[in-house]
Formats: sequence, structure tokens, C-alpha cells
Amino acid sequence: MAKDVVCGMDVDERQASSEDLISSYLGQTYYFCSKQCKKQFDQEPQRYAAPAVPPDQTDRQTGEQYLG
Ligand SMILES: [Zn+2]
Repeated sequence: MAKDVVCGMDVDERQASSEDLISSYLGQTYYFCSKQCKKQFDQEPQRYAAPAVPPDQTDRQTGEQYLG
């Protein structure tokens, strides 16, 4: 099982391969659940392929503050 780095879903590598939902970036292979996720990744691979986020930025996962 691989992880779709765009939406966070688990992806079956074999299925992704058969549907051409794969991208390579910096020597790493990425698998996606859908064409949309692959397209998003292809547009901004550095955004999704980036290594660990610094600890002080992890709190924006909730996003509640942005609702106004
Ligand atoms: Zn996805």
C-alpha cells in the first residue's frame, strides 16, 4: 500500500500502475487515487513531495481559525 500524498488516501500500487496514476519526482515514485490527485501533484510536486513540515506549522491541520 502506498499513500496518496495529495488527499492522504491509501492507494494500491498495482491499481495505480494499471490506471497510470503515478508520478515521479526527485527520484521518488508517487501513487494517486485519481487523475485529479495526480494532476494536482504534477502542478505543484514540491508542495506535496516536501519532507516533514516543521513542528511549529503542524497546528494548521484544524483550520477552524480560518472560518471567520
Ligand atoms: Zn487522492
